[in-house]
Amino acid sequence: MPHVVTQSCCGDASCVYACPVNCIHPTPDEPDFHTSDMLYIDPVACVDCGACVSACPVEAIAPHDRLGPAQLPFVEINAGYYRDAPPRPLLAPVTPPLSLPAGREPLDVAVVGTGPAAIYAADEVLTCPDARVTLYERLSSPYGLVRSGVAPDHVKTRRVTELFDRIVAQDALRVVYDTEIGRDLTHDDLLDRHHAVIYAVGASSDRRLDVPGRELAGTATEFVAWYNGHPDHADHDFDLSHPRAVIIGNGNVALDVARILTADPGALAATSIARPALAALRGSRVEEVVIAARRGIAESAFTLPELVGLMETPGIDLVLDPGDLAEGPERPLDHATSEKTRLLRDLAERSPSGAGKRVVLRYLSSPLALLGDGRAQGIELGRNAYASGGVEPTGASEILDTGLVLTSIGYRGTAVPGVPFDAARGVIPNAEGRVLTEPEGPVLPGVYATGWIKRGPTGFIGTNKQCAQQTVRHLVDDHAEGRLRRPAALAAGL
Ligand code: NAP
Repeated sequence: MPHVVTQSCCGDASCVYACPVNCIHPTPDEPDFHTSDMLYIDPVACVDCGACVSACPVEAIAPHDRLGPAQLPFVEINAGYYRDAPPRPLLAPVTPPLSLPAGREPLDVAVVGTGPAAIYAADEVLTCPDARVTLYERLSSPYGLVRSGVAPDHVKTRRVTELFDRIVAQDALRVVYDTEIGRDLTHDDLLDRHHAVIYAVGASSDRRLDVPGRELAGTATEFVAWYNGHPDHADHDFDLSHPRAVIIGNGNVALDVARILTADPGALAATSIARPALAALRGSRVEEVVIAARRGIAESAFTLPELVGLMETPGIDLVLDPGDLAEGPERPLDHATSEKTRLLRDLAERSPSGAGKRVVLRYLSSPLALLGDGRAQGIELGRNAYASGGVEPTGASEILDTGLVLTSIGYRGTAVPGVPFDAARGVIPNAEGRVLTEPEGPVLPGVYATGWIKRGPTGFIGTNKQCAQQTVRHLVDDHAEGRLRRPAALAAGL
């Protein structure tokens, strides 16, 4: 029986390197790797050896005949990726090992952050002979968004922490907790102590909606941090007293929040969800969550695996009005997008079972204003239609009653004191991870970025592995070429 990649695929491509017959694609050197919703196993080429199963850090791969009912759609999703596709090379890509010229001092690197981007970067640096890494973490616990961003019911995804625990346990790595750069240590302090600094601080803020009444909305970022027990968000109070909640934006974060809002609290009790959030959800009167997207079904920001996961969640009626199915001009769709579009069309034909709580996927709907007096009581959604170049307002609108509006329109990076920042994009300006003094400016020697603060808030946990490899390869090249300063602390023998 061939093996199948399922919902929790994190995209770190460990399986690609483990596979002896190169039957898992796209590989990191293939053009669609960076845009793919997941990796796929070719059922014809798979030799059923199981090497990928052991390599996967999130238990995303299983033999065809051991899938539960919720994972069965992935058999066809994997196979469909290879249908009518050109033949693939027989050999998997090879990543050459890192090395330094003889006589070059072993690298001592600071990594700021302990989220996935930081951990993958540290692991990559430590493949360099005799290298040392110090991770600096603002909080008292590690792993950033893996701890405070991954939904508690995504138990397999959370297992990536077992891989991270093994990485962090390496002798040449130490973690300094409760230390914020700009408050407890400066950027210059780090450069005095290490050959190089890699900023892997993620995107800790979120994009803000620009409509009247926006202050009445909460953000999905706050809601996610609250149910995951992030210390900065423990005291939040979300109004769950109205039968309808509305989420603006339809990325994977919106789907996570909608699922948690409609989940059976009894099932959530068995997860790592923060106990105050669980207590609030037990008392929740929310029956329906509306996810409003400004564009059409083919532009859905959520990924195919997460849509399948939501469709298969027991007790949730996923609803799509056939009137929302309008699509823009014909254009080539990738495998995941055409599969998503097909599933959404099927969904629109289904009659809701009425059995459970409802998640309504709404399209071509833009927020025009939030209504309420001190707290959200309604939202005005404007109707859009396709026009050349995208969607535009039709002038029609509708008011939905609600007690909770959450914006889920993407994260945004924030500046680190003393480090260049591109405020327009919310990232540290960089060229493939080498930090620049300003966008398009010259390179700032010894300073690097990886993860969301480098490329913006896109991709999955494992996307950060390839991202970190790119940054660290440039860092090692710079050290090999003598472009890094010897840190004052090392020079003084400290
Ligand atoms: P996202 O995928 O970028 O989605 C943002 C959504 O907000 C889009 O629907 C976007 O619509 C909409 N939007 C942006 N500005 C808007 C505005 N002014 N008015 C109305 N709508 C607006 O963001 P995300 O959900 O925060 O996810 C961030 C990243 O984390 C993604 O790469 C995601 O896949 C990843 N993630 C993955 C998982 C998982 O794999 N389980 C879970 C959580 C997050 P337009 O497309 O029209 O701009």
